Amino acid sequence: MVTMDTDLVRVLGPKTAKVMTDQLQLRTVRDLLRHYPRRYARRGEMSRLDDLQVGDRVTVLAQVKSVSTRKMQRRPGTLTEVTVGDGAGSMRLVFFNHRHAHLAVGEWGLFAGSVGKWQNDLQFTHPDCHIITGDDDDWARALVPIYPASKDVSSWVIQKSVKLLLDDRRSLEALLDDPIPEPVRDRHGLPSLATALVYKHRPESVAQVEFADERLKWDEALVLQCTLAARRRAAALEPGIERPRRSGGLLDAVDAALPFSLTEGQREVGEELAAELARVQPMNRLLQGEVGSGKTVVALRAMAQVVDAGGQAALLAPTEVLAAQHARSLAAILGPLARAGELDGDPAGTRVVLLTGSQKAAARREARAAVADGSAGIVVGTHALLQEGVEFADLGLVVVDEQHRFGVEQRDALRAKGTRPPHVLVMTATPIPRTVAMTVYGDLETSTLRQLPAGRGGVSSSVVPVKDKPAWLDRAWARVREEVAAGRQAYVVCPRIGDLEDTAKDDDGPDDADGAPPEDAGTSDRRPPLAVLDVAEGLRSGPLSALRVEVLHGRMPPEEKEARMRAFAAGEVDVLVATTVVEVGVDVPNATVMVVMDADRFGVSQLHQLRGRVARGEHAGLCLLVTEASSSSATGQRLAAVAGTTDGFELARLDLETRREGDVLGAAQSGRRSNVKLLSLLDDETLIAEARAEATALVEQGGGLADHPELAAAVAALAMDERADYLEKA
Ligand code: ADP
Ligand code: MG
Repeated sequence: MVTMDTDLVRVLGPKTAKVMTDQLQLRTVRDLLRHYPRRYARRGEMSRLDDLQVGDRVTVLAQVKSVSTRKMQRRPGTLTEVTVGDGAGSMRLVFFNHRHAHLAVGEWGLFAGSVGKWQNDLQFTHPDCHIITGDDDDWARALVPIYPASKDVSSWVIQKSVKLLLDDRRSLEALLDDPIPEPVRDRHGLPSLATALVYKHRPESVAQVEFADERLKWDEALVLQCTLAARRRAAALEPGIERPRRSGGLLDAVDAALPFSLTEGQREVGEELAAELARVQPMNRLLQGEVGSGKTVVALRAMAQVVDAGGQAALLAPTEVLAAQHARSLAAILGPLARAGELDGDPAGTRVVLLTGSQKAAARREARAAVADGSAGIVVGTHALLQEGVEFADLGLVVVDEQHRFGVEQRDALRAKGTRPPHVLVMTATPIPRTVAMTVYGDLETSTLRQLPAGRGGVSSSVVPVKDKPAWLDRAWARVREEVAAGRQAYVVCPRIGDLEDTAKDDDGPDDADGAPPEDAGTSDRRPPLAVLDVAEGLRSGPLSALRVEVLHGRMPPEEKEARMRAFAAGEVDVLVATTVVEVGVDVPNATVMVVMDADRFGVSQLHQLRGRVARGEHAGLCLLVTEASSSSATGQRLAAVAGTTDGFELARLDLETRREGDVLGAAQSGRRSNVKLLSLLDDETLIAEARAEATALVEQGGGLADHPELAAAVAALAMDERADYLEKA
């Protein structure tokens, strides 16, 4: 019997199955049936070819009208011209030296190539040809599926293989245990999986494809939401420890020490957190707030409450620079309260310790000891905190700063360090569209800081298109000189370090999908991206020769990095030329200019983050996006959009448009076999919300997922993928 888990070898034979596995990672019947057509070729398409740009790749379904072969006039060899038509239009195919000279008039075929033009006629030069043979009824279809293919597995081979499976409707019905329970399908008017797969792979109309898509998206959304619902439920069932507010302790001292009054938003979110920390049920909350909205203070106050209640708090940062900065600024706010046990310390306080991977062994040992014996109430660190050997006396709260760098598994690893589950606060500056909040962060409740503290100067941004307007770059450096003359400082950010070991990435920089350059960037024939070391050299000997220019990047030794950052914060450096190590959270209020070199190599939210580094004090900030892209190109327009708005939510949407869903969901959520193929975080908000409600009900009702074995298996498979991904990355 054939089931979804049957190996393709048994159905297709060893040869086809092997290339499918090797080149397309299709192993089972399920894999093949879930390998959906990317689009459909159809008759009548040629009339649309006029709208296409020369160079676009298309596949057309057409009939051969004429074939003629002749010797070329100026070169040796022959030229075969084939005219094909589809009833609505016609075009010419050109082949050299007898390739496809055998095409016969009257044959139907699929022709795939890039659209060219010759003397006002459309043509394909050397297109891929697939002639539909007589025993094949596929030419009669209005829509022919075009699959993501590989070198040795063409779209037609996939089409044939899928057909083999689907033609046997009886075995098909038998092998499909539908993961979506029938009542759910009925409520939302969805077809069975069997029907959906037939419609998707062998549609008779566009309406069938749409019907199928709706259903197949539900599969993806429901599995994801069940996973998240199960996680929420598990977290809710395991009691933590209440950490109620106590007066006269660290929190009151923090409030007294703050040099400003809290914004209304900070106060409200603070109350929300205080109440949740006081409960036994562990808090699981996402705090989102624009860059500069003051999330750190909110976190510090929550941490102080937990310390007052006798627990410890850990703050997890994505980079060493940021961890060090957090430790420094917490220590500064707390003053003697951060030095309990030291000579000048306040015995009512606690200790703030830093724990990072690059610390010297002795320092790390000391930090670990303070974490283990509980004398360090506040522990700040990077991934090093997650490692074995780091034991907490009583971990009460985990704060994850800039969450998008950390996966669910890492959060869980830290959570597991408490004897009972600690409260968890996740902070992110990247505004999160509702759909993403429901998926990537679906196991968290959300709070939002909408306001910026009063008295911010704001940032204005411009694109500097060096190809179109070379003089503008000189003007940019002049602006940097002016700001420095007025007592301010500047950042210059480059995509690359530029030393011997250089790769495109900075070791200490952000390292996940969020930083991925958009699709049109980074194609191989472009020059390498500008590098920190080169640019710094050029500025020192050129337009900024009178200024104090220093560099900062992830491959500098940690003490040096730390010292450099401190010197910049102290105003001893005018211009810091850096990689994206300054992207997240770095806080130097006196810096007012941010020049981003090769801005087109950065993602939208990355640029927004970078810009956030210069709107932090009372002075107005300036962000210059330097690019060689012309302002009319897609890239140029994307940059213009970033320059044109500081509305984080609008930019998040733009970011979503330029990235693939899998990137947004992250490797862990999408799985290597990518659970999310059709679902769009941009367009399927309603569907995702409905799936979330159904998933919650399914997970919480009587038998939970146990009553739905097929769905439970899909959820388990997703969890397995996540675990495998995590292990691979660790
Ligand atoms: P982010 O939310 O981006 O992490 P930070 O927490 O780093 O922002 O805060 C940005 C800056 O604003 C810091 O210098 C911080 O001290 C300051 N700040 C925070 N809250 C307030 C406030 N209520 N009034 C004035 N300044 C504030
Ligand atoms: Mg921050």
